Amino acid sequence: MIPIAKPLIGSEEINAIADVIKSGMIAQGQRVEKFESLFAELCGTEFAVAVNSGTAALHAALKASGVKHGDEVITTPFTFIATANTILMQGAKPVFADIDEATFNISPEKIQQKVGKKTKAIVTVDLYGHLCDYDKIGEIAKDKSLIVIEDACQSVNAEYNGKKSGSFGDIAGFSFYATKNITCGEGGAITTNNREYAENARLFRQHGRASMRQYEHTELGYNYRMTDISAAMLLEQLKKLELITKRRIENAEYLSKGLSKIKGIKVPVVKKGYKHVFHQYTIKVEDSFKLNRDELAKHLNKKGIGCSVYYPKPLHLYNHFKRLGYKSGDFPVAEKLSRQVISLPVYPQLEKEQLNRIVDAFGELE
Ligand SMILES: *Cc1c(COP(=O)(O)O)cnc(C)c1O
Repeated sequence: MIPIAKPLIGSEEINAIADVIKSGMIAQGQRVEKFESLFAELCGTEFAVAVNSGTAALHAALKASGVKHGDEVITTPFTFIATANTILMQGAKPVFADIDEATFNISPEKIQQKVGKKTKAIVTVDLYGHLCDYDKIGEIAKDKSLIVIEDACQSVNAEYNGKKSGSFGDIAGFSFYATKNITCGEGGAITTNNREYAENARLFRQHGRASMRQYEHTELGYNYRMTDISAAMLLEQLKKLELITKRRIENAEYLSKGLSKIKGIKVPVVKKGYKHVFHQYTIKVEDSFKLNRDELAKHLNKKGIGCSVYYPKPLHLYNHFKRLGYKSGDFPVAEKLSRQVISLPVYPQLEKEQLNRIVDAFGELE
């Protein structure tokens, strides 16, 4: 079986983690600090704050930038549920805006239509590793004085015009979950150029505790700290990031070369000026294809090829968002794509023979 995802882990990670365990200092410490400084450098931001998941990173980013009860936050319905759940966790209301059919990302025109008196922020999601249209989104945000929060959980190392993911908005959240492009099992980080936001996030990750004063808690916070065990693994993963990114891009190009010839299959689009890092390689199965999307998934599984649907249900159709007044038909593009998309293996260790097997499994159907 070719799995849908596989982390690139070697003896480097194992040894680095063993060193931390042997040192006896296993919670948040020097490795976390070192990771933060290297991660900020990678993203081209002044600050990075490490936390223990992407969800924690988004929650901290919302809190740190001042999103609070009663605010409205515009975001995409076509994403992982954490994007909008964290908005609810801050007591704010997610206001969904439909997506662009080509890139799967939130449409700037649709954002514009949703801005109202209560709108405080926009949470963009760089879905599958392709950055959003930050030129247009930045203009809207500037015009309406809105905060831009990047959900960069899938886009580490992605670029637009030479600028890196995590540096476009006012603050960004990353995930280092096991399937993400770099991982420590569970982990996350925020990046920002705003010193106050970075300090707020540091308070938030440890019960509102001012850094040096042991029991000075200035406000409510959580325990969102990363451990040095995780940071040690991430420091090794960072060294491999260029290789990981390059291999994902090459694998995606190879798959697209084979699959673009197949009628009814639409391969991923990479817009001019963008570096797509292919957290997922996601195709669209159109009506003119022999099988529908779910039948294709079954066929691939039978052939020993892992595949998965990200995401089968747009967020506005889950009960806890429906309660806000959303219904089927509200976001036609997201709803259509949720029936058409399927993601194929694209992880760095894939070999030519395996990539050929994936392409051939489509050819057999013609
Ligand atoms: C993975 C992911 C998250 C959540 O990250 P966790 O580390 O799993 O908490 C949030 N948003 C998007 C778009 C993601 O892909």
